[in-house]
Amino acid sequence: TQANADLAQLIRTIPDFPKPGIQFRDITTLLLDAKGFHASIERLAASAPDDFDLITGIEARGFIFSSAMATQTAKGLVLIRKDGKLPGATIGVDYALEYGTDRVVMHEDACVPGQKVLLVDDLIATGGTALAAVRLLRQAGAEVVGASFVIDLPDLGGADKLRAAGVPVTTLVAFE
Ligand code: 5GP
Repeated sequence: TQANADLAQLIRTIPDFPKPGIQFRDITTLLLDAKGFHASIERLAASAPDDFDLITGIEARGFIFSSAMATQTAKGLVLIRKDGKLPGATIGVDYALEYGTDRVVMHEDACVPGQKVLLVDDLIATGGTALAAVRLLRQAGAEVVGASFVIDLPDLGGADKLRAAGVPVTTLVAFE
């Protein structure tokens, strides 16, 4: 039986979303379950590094888990967003998608150089999004001391890539 099997069974799989052949792991059913949502935050927080200064969350589902993690661990929260949404001066990183590119940005003054940050998102697949976020945080002078995800898709290799980039990774539920 897999670790966190209670949480795994609360995550619904929707076939062919957002396109044919993709098995989308839907966290809205986990969020609906009071005990499950609470346990997911407690378990991610329990495996967080001992010493860090800030939580950082990735738009959009990452905001749900990162904001809960920030209050659970009593840290501030930095938002990493798609380009064009943040009102202040930003720094950004472009990254490749299957077709085309995307860009993640953060406020240029969101972190003080040397601060230790914990990255949070709902799911890691290829790792493209999380690696772009790590590059962005490092560009801001932050030290990324960990990355936490509710769901890992290990076949896609993202968590391994993140570890190879020097970031310790915690995930709760794996779907092969
Ligand atoms: P990656 O960049 O690692 O390939 O994809 C991870 C990003 O895409 C995360 O920000 C995550 O929210 C989103 N994502 C990709 N596939 C899924 C999925 O099946 N379920 C959910 N909830 N998010 C996904």
